[in-house]
Amino acid sequence: MTTDLTLADDVKARMRDVKDFPRPGIVFKDITPLLADPVLFGRVINGMAAPFRGQHVTKVIGVEARGFILGAPVALALNAGFVPARKPGKLPHHTIVERYALEYGTDGLEIHQDAILKGERVVIVDDVLATGGTAEATMKLTAQLGGDLVGFSFLMALGFLDGVKRLGADRVRSIITL
Ligand code: AMP
Repeated sequence: MTTDLTLADDVKARMRDVKDFPRPGIVFKDITPLLADPVLFGRVINGMAAPFRGQHVTKVIGVEARGFILGAPVALALNAGFVPARKPGKLPHHTIVERYALEYGTDGLEIHQDAILKGERVVIVDDVLATGGTAEATMKLTAQLGGDLVGFSFLMALGFLDGVKRLGADRVRSIITL
């Protein structure tokens, strides 16, 4: 586990709540101030990778779009490959798809058919866990390809939305819970 004891407080201090974005009633958790701070960004990546070190992770899936920003450096920190999960129609080769519900709207996610080999050990990364629909769809994509899900690593979990319960508390890690 991380020994960076002030990380959660420092993340909270550098997050920005944007009210009514992208639609009325949503408080958007803007991580761009945190990403702009290279020291804090590095500590966040280390903290998100820490629970999965030594667990023989071979692939990290990052969910479009902020999951790419966090997932790629987490993959490097774990000496694993990076796999993008993208909105439908964006990936160029043969894909598999899962539909899911968002906190705001519905969407689908795709990964390349050859992105995960059977038995590969997979960690799924995103910035925010809200209802868990996005992460659950990514988990189903992993299962479709025969991947072995090690866990989920989020920067923040919105505790009031029950996403943690939906995914299974034992395999969800996050730097902060709000
Ligand atoms: P969900 O599927 O409901 O868990 O939503 C998670 C996805 O939606 C993630 O990819 C997040 O980036 C995005 N998301 C959901 N709620 C928020 C929020 N309040 N602020 C920023 N991003 C959010």
